[in-house]
Amino acid sequence: MAYQSLYRRYRPQKFSDIRGQEHVVKALRNAVRDDRVGHAYLLSGPRGTGKTTAARILAKVLNCQNPADGEPCGVCDSCVSIEGGTSFDLHELDAASNNKVDDIRDLLSKVALGTPGRTKVYLLDEVHMLTAGAENALLKTLEEPPDHVVFVLATTEPHKVVPTIRSRTQQLELTLIAADQMAELVREIGTDAGLDINDEIVGHVVKVGGGSARDTLSALDQVVAAGGVGDIDSSTADLLESIAASDPAMAIAAIEAAGERGADPRRIGERFIDALRTVFLLKMGSPPSRLSEPEIELAKRFVDRLTPAAITRSLETVGRALVDMRQAPDPRIDLEVAFVRLTNPAVDSSHAALVARIEALEAGAPSPAPAAAVAATPTPVAPPAAEATAAPPPATPAPVESSDSSSPPLPTGGRPA
Ligand SMILES: [Zn+2]
Repeated sequence: MAYQSLYRRYRPQKFSDIRGQEHVVKALRNAVRDDRVGHAYLLSGPRGTGKTTAARILAKVLNCQNPADGEPCGVCDSCVSIEGGTSFDLHELDAASNNKVDDIRDLLSKVALGTPGRTKVYLLDEVHMLTAGAENALLKTLEEPPDHVVFVLATTEPHKVVPTIRSRTQQLELTLIAADQMAELVREIGTDAGLDINDEIVGHVVKVGGGSARDTLSALDQVVAAGGVGDIDSSTADLLESIAASDPAMAIAAIEAAGERGADPRRIGERFIDALRTVFLLKMGSPPSRLSEPEIELAKRFVDRLTPAAITRSLETVGRALVDMRQAPDPRIDLEVAFVRLTNPAVDSSHAALVARIEALEAGAPSPAPAAAVAATPTPVAPPAAEATAAPPPATPAPVESSDSSSPPLPTGGRPA
């Protein structure tokens, strides 16, 4: 049997299985029990907090042959087909990839048709991504919804949903799950799945997951696959080392190695930021609480080797790359470009990069940039115009060694068109 991720295997089947969202669960369950379910709900909240899971459970209970106390039975034909993704009573559309007016019209054209079950549920995920035309088409349907239809709109960014749509929905907000609640969930799942996990692993995956059940359980999957927390973090240590040593090849190799172990680029970047923040706080004399021994040890290694300017520049650059990755066809490129910039300030003409070069000079280290670039700059805070005339064009970065010869050449800035 193919391996099923813990997140899928332990996906809540009933409202009462959803953790940390008591008010949302109560509102939906009571509405079902009292037979006053609305025509449209807007579920908002960070990724991995249970928005689409709640929508699927709602679709189940509204079509279940034996609902009890506002919960689906989970075993009737309807419940099974919704769980298996084969039901005609639940229609899902990911607005992030199907945001055109034709996509939404196609979906809505079936709204008026009958349904095999009692209620047809439309789940529109990332609804804030719809184009204006698609929003209008949706709005028309929300103005006069047929009796047997319930819309569940889900979004991570409710402020981007137009007010005309928001005002026609009942809004329910899901929140990040508290660390102690998440730790309890991880322990329960660990026991049920027969995993050998200890407090260090629980603490690690809860921190990596950042309050998202999906991210926490995929972190647990990775720890289990890697055989422990230690292995997972070697790429983070290598990335910190690459910044301290200004070594782009080491950074690229670390990203590649982490990718081969199954970590996605986003997770690699987030882990790096997490570790760097620990270094930063340690440097400022206030280490964060609830860290494992290996995490503290790792941070201590870099406290004296990274300057505050290098740390803030790294946090900003990788943080920006994480945002850009959301829209990127190949997020790994964003991460690689960010680290090439950080490990090789000569390719970066930003103010922060100049400060990094000056810091390196002051520390007596050989400058990674052509000496003329700094010597010709009159003051450390040259205005942009002076910088443009004084600085030579950025040097071409040295070819980066990579064992993956099929990789496209790295761009030196921006995203490929
Ligand atoms: Zn059922």
